[in-house]
Amino acid sequence: MRILIAEDDIITRRLLAAQLKNWGHELVVCSDGQQAWEQINRTGSPKLVVLDWMMPGMDGLTLSREIRKLETKPYTYIILLTARSSKEDIVDGMEAGADDYIIKPFEPQELRVRIRAATRIVQLQEDLLKALEKSEFQASHDALTGLWNRYAILGILHRELARGFREMNPVSVIMADIDHFKKINDTYGHLTGDEVLRQTANRLTHLLRPYDAVGRYGGEEFLLVLPSCSTQEALNVAERLRGSFQENPINNVEGSFNVSLSFGVVMVRGKDSQDADAIIGLADEALYKAKNLGRNRVEFGGELLS
Ligand SMILES: [Mg+2]
Repeated sequence: MRILIAEDDIITRRLLAAQLKNWGHELVVCSDGQQAWEQINRTGSPKLVVLDWMMPGMDGLTLSREIRKLETKPYTYIILLTARSSKEDIVDGMEAGADDYIIKPFEPQELRVRIRAATRIVQLQEDLLKALEKSEFQASHDALTGLWNRYAILGILHRELARGFREMNPVSVIMADIDHFKKINDTYGHLTGDEVLRQTANRLTHLLRPYDAVGRYGGEEFLLVLPSCSTQEALNVAERLRGSFQENPINNVEGSFNVSLSFGVVMVRGKDSQDADAIIGLADEALYKAKNLGRNRVEFGGELLS
């Protein structure tokens, strides 16, 4: 585990560092409080810190208070190192935000078990955070394509409509659907169908602006949300996407697939998020029109203005 130690007394510092290194820990060593504070503010700083109470510049108590104000994730575990051993002092230390304390001069065995307990808590916190991040990702993303899922892309649409309404900016919405997708599945099997979906998703993502959002709306249907995008720009985007699929086949182990997409485009200005359903309805209608007119084309569903 990476541990930060801050101790101004050179002998104690060396002793502490030698012990911790001996037990396999990686150290960031500071000789005063100010130095420690700078290290703690760096990204990726150790989440276990051992602070001497009495130090020039910034003492361990002040440091503890400042660390607690940061509200970092994951939690920083603080062990105070102190020559003070009265109950009042210890209470002060814990109230400043320390998790544990060790009284100097310390016994290596005591240091060892305290560090072990601290390591366990820091590790647990990190594991928990990772699990949380993973479940948040899974809750908002489509497992097959890695795109936003239907729930998440609708959330983004609502948010962008509200923002567009506030800032009086247009928002464009594109509904895109892979043509004859069922035929790909029926002819080559679902694994190939999945691969086509993945690569389609990948290409859509790469061809959009970084602040555009694309989600898997249904089976082979994608919803694209383009903030600050006028009608003409949105039509250009859809046309560019359509052209890319027409010109570049999707390649996989089964060979080369000429996949085409149909698009329905709608532009909205001055409409709040309560109109999301109506907007999707219009984009859907335009998409069906594109399908009926022969597929592999872009149809405009109109402008929705306040
Ligand atoms: Mg000291």
